[in-house]
Formats: sequence, C-alpha cells, structure tokens
Amino acid sequence: MHPPDGLGSWPARRARIDPARTALVGPGGGRTYGELAERVDRLAGVLAAAGVGKGDRVAQLGVNAVEVLETFFAVWRLGAIAVPLNHRLAGPEIRYMLGDVGASFLVASPDAAALAAGFAGPRLEIGPAYEEALAGAGGAAHPVGLDDPALVLYTSGTTGRPKGAVLTHGNLTWNTVNQLAHVDVAGTDRVLCIAPLFHCVGIGQITLPTLFKGGSVEPVAKVDPAAILARIGEAGITGFSAVPTMLQMLCDHPGFAAADLSSLRVVQYGGSPVPARVAAAWLDRGVTLQQGYGMTEASPGVLMATREGSTAHPVSVGVPHFFTDVAMVRDGAVVPPDAGPGELLVRGPNVFAGYWGRPDATADATLDGWFRTGDVLTVDDDGWATVVDRLTDMFISGGENVYPAEVEAVLLAVDGVVGAAVVGVPDQRWGETGVGFVQPAEGVDLDPDALRGHLTAHLARYKVPRRIVIVGELPRNATGKLRRAELRATAEGLR
Ligand code: ATP
Ligand code: MG
Repeated sequence: MHPPDGLGSWPARRARIDPARTALVGPGGGRTYGELAERVDRLAGVLAAAGVGKGDRVAQLGVNAVEVLETFFAVWRLGAIAVPLNHRLAGPEIRYMLGDVGASFLVASPDAAALAAGFAGPRLEIGPAYEEALAGAGGAAHPVGLDDPALVLYTSGTTGRPKGAVLTHGNLTWNTVNQLAHVDVAGTDRVLCIAPLFHCVGIGQITLPTLFKGGSVEPVAKVDPAAILARIGEAGITGFSAVPTMLQMLCDHPGFAAADLSSLRVVQYGGSPVPARVAAAWLDRGVTLQQGYGMTEASPGVLMATREGSTAHPVSVGVPHFFTDVAMVRDGAVVPPDAGPGELLVRGPNVFAGYWGRPDATADATLDGWFRTGDVLTVDDDGWATVVDRLTDMFISGGENVYPAEVEAVLLAVDGVVGAAVVGVPDQRWGETGVGFVQPAEGVDLDPDALRGHLTAHLARYKVPRRIVIVGELPRNATGKLRRAELRATAEGLR
C-alpha cells in the first residue's frame, strides 16, 4: 500500500471532490477548497525554501486566523511539526516553549510577533509579507506517514508547567473519524472556530472534522459576544465549538435573548464543566450543548455526549468515542470502568506518542499501555460517565475526600454567582480544609455567611469551606480554566 500523505494532503484531496466549495472564511471573504489547496502548496514551498524539512518544528503565534490553518496544512505537507503557542502567555513562557521544542521557524501575526522578540530563527509575518511570499512561490511536499508527528501541542499548564504533547498524523486522523462517528458533521456545515487554535478543542473538536467533510470553518479572532451572536444569524452558522467561559459570556450578553440562533445544529464544548444555569439558558433558546471530555494527549476526544442523550444525562460527559476505550485504576490495577469514582485510563489510536523530550513524564502518565488521565470519573449503568474532579484538586478533610467541583457546582447554582473555586489548604485539626472563592455578577452583593449556610443545607459538613472570600474576578488561563495554584497560594496566605 502506498503510504498515506498525512493531514497535509487533506485540502488537495477535498479539492478533487469539491473544488468550488468554501473551505475557510476570513475577514476578507471566503477561500474555496481549490484555492486553499493551492495556497497550502505555495506556503509549503516558501517554508521549504527557508530550510524547513521533515521533523522540523515550526512555531506559530497569533490570534485565530485563516492563515493559522493554512500554516498547519503547509507544515504537515512537508512532514514538519506545527507548534501553535498560546499568545496570551508572557514573553518568558513563550521563550521557554520555543527553546524546549527547538523551533527553527516562526509564523506570527503582527500583534504577537513582539512576544517572540528573542527568537533568532527566520520568521514570516502574517499580512503583506506573507501574501508576497506566497505569490512568488512554487509548491513543495514530502512523503508523510500516519506515525509521523504532526503537532507538538502544549497542555494548558493547569497542574504544573505545560508539557508538549506529540500528536501524530494518525492521532489527529483517528480523532476526526471518532468525531464523525459521534457528531452530525455535514459537508454543508458552516462553523465558527471560537476556541483557540493553539488548543486541542479548537483544532480537533470541530475544525479538522468539518474540513474533512467539506464544510467551511471561520476562525474567530476575538471573543466579542455581540459580534459572535450577530454573525451566527447573518452567516447561517450551523455550529461552533467553544470552552465553557465563552458559552457563559455569550448567554450573559444582553443581546442573547433576541439573537437569531435558528441555524445552529451542533454546539460542542469541553475542557471544563458548564454551570447548570448556562446549559439551561442555551436550552431555553432551543440549543442543546453537546459536552465532550478529553485532553491534549488524546487529540482531544475521549468521551462525548450524544444530542439525544444529553437531555436524560444533563451533567454527563457521555460515552467513549468510537475507536477509543476507557478503563479505571483500582488498587494500582487496570479494571473495567464501574460505578464508584476512579481515575480514568484511555487507550486508542487518538492517544499521543508521548511528551516532547520528557520520557520521564510520559512513563509517569502510562500504565500497562493506558494513558492515565489524572481525572476522577464515575460511570453509570448506561455507560455514561461524569467527571468528578482532578485527582490533584481533591483534598482530604477529616479523613474524607472532598472534590472541589461538587462544592463549586452548588455555589454556581446560587443566583448572582458567576464563578466559584474551592481549594484545600493545610489545617491543624482536619489535615486539610476548604477555602472558597466566589465571583459575584456585576453589581451583586453576596454575603459569605449566607453562602456557607446555603452549602451547609446542601452538602455534608466536611465539604463546606471553612471560609468564603468574595473576589472581583477569578484568575483563569486562556482556555478559561481556573488557576488553582494561584488561589491555593492566596488561600494559604489568608491564615
Ligand atoms: P495540564 O495537563 O498542563 O495540567 P490541562 O490538563 O488543563 O493542563 P488540557 O489538555 O487542556 O490541559 O485539559 C484536559 C483536562 O481538562 C482534562 O484532563 C480534564 O481535567 C479537564 N476536562 C476536559 N474536559 C472536561 C469536561 N467536559 N468537564 C470537566 N473537565 C474537563
Ligand atoms: Mg492535563
């Protein structure tokens, strides 16, 4: 069998079927699959002429844009490795990643270019220089196999320093197949990519599956709720994928109630839980949110709710993807997932090849060929799973396990609470005890004692934080996840 040409061949393969269909939509209008295939080929030529070859790492910095996707495909055509970096990180963090991955070329948007000021290698700036380079270039391609690395994608750094997950062409292809088996993706879809393209939700959950089917993808540069709500109605958007904080921003916007959402078929999210009131607000507007659970290391899909099943299992993250299996760890052994909470293990062709340059971290995350997610889940009799919390967030108070996510969900259900975080801190009497941080909606006054009273009415005493602190805004990272280490330090300082 001739080896497949990897992800870089997708635009040209799709162009053989649908050359005139719109593939990408940017501020300047649409690009057909025929145009995309040609531009990707030329960009591969530009990169090859600058010395980029098989296995080289090409870093990317900038907001979501059509050019980010063109660069992915061009890099993949050469068998090189794309490394999209989080432009919301600080200069030293970016420099750490550029050095860690050994990037030899950088593609950056003008606003992000300064972040990589110390980068000594050649770079291409999106804008006139990018267009000029493309106009004069010939094509280039190298043979690529499914086991070749396609991406080094840094994890969100929620539990420590971000790690570079190596995802192969095969991993991302199988994740696409899994998504298509689980979600109704159609060639007529017009989707927005609101989640960042430096994160696995942006790349794997909607963008690659939609382009595989011949639909169109519009990368959204800035999360401006009014503009996004208007765009959905104006462009007949059929779906999008986002992280929970974005879904919350959209439904809290004053324009939400009157926005034309009638074209939406599939709205997916993942990365962290959606508060029940956010899911209810979307359902009130006739939109069912489809929850996915995954991680960078799984390209990212592991579990996904079905649209039909979401109503009966509103907080569940669903069932395993088609070609992906899950198990649990009990007493150090791999066992089939069953009722009680346990650490979830994942295995399948979408699971990564290891962490870049970190065999130690790769070995720590592996058990008998399974990837250890570090997340605690429960699985009900129908096989539907629910995320309990991360192992590292759990704390033990008076000998009892406390999962902050459970306490946070009760706080988030209180009127006027828009954010909640609970962390464990050392305590002389109980070993550890909780401290809660609560973010009120604008203009709302919340009373910490009343909140504690509410928690005591709903939860066992040992789960109720010893203290509740009202804050203006909770610290979150670029994908909306709570920066718990920061909160833990604040909580410890309070004593
Ligand atoms: P790091 O690995 O660097 O600590 P991270 O795990 O946050 O960061 P990601 O790969 O972006 O980096 O996120 C994957 C994690 O997000 C999962 O392991 C899980 O803890 C959490 N997660 C994903 N989907 C959901 C979901 N639907 N509900 C709750 N948590 C989720
Ligand atoms: Mg992780």
